[in-house]
Amino acid sequence: MDSDAASTLEPRRPTWAEIDLRALQQNYQILKDWLSHGTSLMAVVKANAYGHGSVACASALEAIGADWLGVALPEEAFELRAGGITRPIFCLGGFWKGQSARIVAEGITPAAFRLDAIEELDVAGRAAGRIVDYHLKIDTGMGRLGLPFGEVAELAPRLAEFRHARLTGLLTHFAEADGVDRSFTELQIARFNQVARQLEEAGFRLEWCHLANSAGIHAHPTSHGTLARAGATLYGLTRDVLAPSPAAPLLSPVMSLHSRIVMLKRVPTGTPLGYGRSFVTTRESLIATLPIGYADGLRRAFSSNGEVLLRDAKAPIVGRVSMDLTIIDVTGIEGVEVGDEVVLLGTQGTNRITAEDLAAAIGTISYEIVTGIGPRVPRRDKF
Ligand SMILES: *Cc1c(COP(=O)(O)O)cnc(C)c1O
Repeated sequence: MDSDAASTLEPRRPTWAEIDLRALQQNYQILKDWLSHGTSLMAVVKANAYGHGSVACASALEAIGADWLGVALPEEAFELRAGGITRPIFCLGGFWKGQSARIVAEGITPAAFRLDAIEELDVAGRAAGRIVDYHLKIDTGMGRLGLPFGEVAELAPRLAEFRHARLTGLLTHFAEADGVDRSFTELQIARFNQVARQLEEAGFRLEWCHLANSAGIHAHPTSHGTLARAGATLYGLTRDVLAPSPAAPLLSPVMSLHSRIVMLKRVPTGTPLGYGRSFVTTRESLIATLPIGYADGLRRAFSSNGEVLLRDAKAPIVGRVSMDLTIIDVTGIEGVEVGDEVVLLGTQGTNRITAEDLAAAIGTISYEIVTGIGPRVPRRDKF
């Protein structure tokens, strides 16, 4: 898989991410089954498919007939088309001046939230002799991107004038669908439904009404509309993504992260390890070095604050994580050798480290752990 296919034949640093594309396909199917009858599912593959490899993931999803693929930027959509993806692609974040001609040419459906952008799309459509579909993105309470919901009615007559830019969908984004307090999401849903009615009364036919992200799909069935957008759950992230109830669907993590011991040494008590000598051994220790660092996405916040899986045991990270290298203490683990595989994220034997565990240890969310795995780490298909 990946652009890495040829280079895996070359000798290289033994640090890699494994991508379980079957788990990805199963997760898509499970989420689709969770949705209300008649709701289509958009697989969100923005940000290099949350770090999992966008073309490989999109291809696996296309192979099972995923309804839509979602990206943040037109650049990401173009990359998918260049990679041979033919399914419908939606661009969640709109587009920038000068991108409309290519959006039209490559058959991308963008979100739009400003009149000038819709005008540009209309001009590009006319130039190409085509009608371009777009979905209007409205702000119902997230406060980030989208036309304020109260301004849509006033704008509707202007939107109806465009001959080459056609409004076929309406979307909004939830601010706290993972929350225990459900009321704000319900308010957002009510505002969305009100705008959808206004647009339909103004003569628009909204084929695609979409509100729900992973958390909304899980906890707010009334937000399913005709389309829902899943990112995190597609990759098997759940614990810091979904509301505590109902029970999460049984999704599997898609990414695991691996490396191998490159250096092994026995050191006496009182030996400082790594930058700043922040860790000093308090016993005779067996210390191993791994060829992975913060430039690969193993965040520096894991310095003396994490563990890896090795020979069915857990070994703590000791001292500072540096740019390319990390030190672990393997004292007392039977039979450790140079070349042994360690798992930094994923399962080994009966032990498991999840992206949610890693995130909790350094005060972030699992999204940031997986999207942070750097481009220097090759993504390999698990099978
Ligand atoms: C990223 C994104 C999603 C996916 O969110 P998850 O929480 O990962 O499911 C859905 N909708 C929009 C607008 C997004 O930007």
